[in-house]
Amino acid sequence: LTAPDGTTRPTIFAEMTALAQATGAANLGQGFPDADGPEWIRAAAIEAIRAGANQYPPGRGIPELRDAIAAHQKRHYGIELDPATEVLVTAGATEALAAAVLALTGAGDEVVTLEPFYDAHAAVIAMAGATHVTVPLRPDPTGFRLDPVAFAAAVSERTRLIILNTPHNPTGTVLNDAELITVAEAAARVDAIVITDEVYEHLVFGEQPHHPIATLPGMAERTLTVSSAGKTFSLTGWKVGWVAGPAPLIEALLAVKQFLTYSGGAPFQPAIARALTEGDADIAELRSSLAARRDLLVAGLRAAGFTLVVPEGTYFVCADATPFLTSEMPDGAAFARALPARIGVACVPLSAFCRPGSVTSEALSSWVRFTFVKDEGTLRRAIERLGTLR
Ligand code: PMP
Ligand code: GLN
Repeated sequence: LTAPDGTTRPTIFAEMTALAQATGAANLGQGFPDADGPEWIRAAAIEAIRAGANQYPPGRGIPELRDAIAAHQKRHYGIELDPATEVLVTAGATEALAAAVLALTGAGDEVVTLEPFYDAHAAVIAMAGATHVTVPLRPDPTGFRLDPVAFAAAVSERTRLIILNTPHNPTGTVLNDAELITVAEAAARVDAIVITDEVYEHLVFGEQPHHPIATLPGMAERTLTVSSAGKTFSLTGWKVGWVAGPAPLIEALLAVKQFLTYSGGAPFQPAIARALTEGDADIAELRSSLAARRDLLVAGLRAAGFTLVVPEGTYFVCADATPFLTSEMPDGAAFARALPARIGVACVPLSAFCRPGSVTSEALSSWVRFTFVKDEGTLRRAIERLGTLR
């Protein structure tokens, strides 16, 4: 969590956003939308403040939001949940992940994740004192895919938890049914719990639909499904997240969560309850506008000379910067750090999503991630600038 000299490091996202701001670069680094979510949802939070939703909400979250989360899981995926015992509202997906890993693991436990992985997954595993084991996602023409043999080999009797993330940040992979079955079989074999981070659940653009692993036979009883309103409604600063799963696991998370934040987001909770209930049209609109922006950025990056994997979901496209690397700028990290000053575009190196020195980190050392959750003008400006690289 700290640099070798003991100082605290900002996350790669904060670092790249600061660099983008200092240089006036188009910020395709940190994944946050530059347009706020629907006006009617924001108005609902303002109404809630006026109506007095300003003190601690219940630790589990307000009943109407837990009801709305359970109804959302039922409507979209056929997942049945008891909102009283099987749903916990959290301060973003980040708190749900932290509470889960802290509650369920400790020294001597192994936690398996895909690699690359979202940085917070590795950080909370380190905070819990558990051992992080990774399985590579490898780029091939169909996407960054999971090797079933490698996955099965990584999961052993020491595995307490498997953290999945689909749609996957940073690669944009939406895990297919064969990949989900590989994970489910491994979890069942060693009796591991699966935490699945599904914050991009609605941001899927291709043929491959998003399937929660909790819907696979026998998986509901061992899966904690984590999501958040941030990505679904373009309200990343509200930090309203949730986790759903078996009551005893939710109790264990609540025991940790009560000392992380206790509760939060009083006026945002009723607004998100309404959004989850009445916001399907807004979600569909975001999905189609993001799909168009993905296509725009993919075409722009290709025209600029990058090879890339077309993402099936999320906010992100990963591209190989090899054609632009030089002896002064030998890898994706150096490329990402130089790019804002050089051409006015910010991105994030994939090495930031890998264990330092790992096989995957080496294999992806020339790769960078760009976000397309920006307005069309910003994307076009970035594409024009990227076109000057060669
Ligand atoms: N998981 C993944 C994969 C993410 O990309 C993000 C957001 N950047 C989060 C979790 C955090 O979500 P929240 O803002 O709701 O805490
Ligand atoms: N999840 C966002 C990303 O991947 C960033 C969130 C953050 O800055 N912690 O870009």
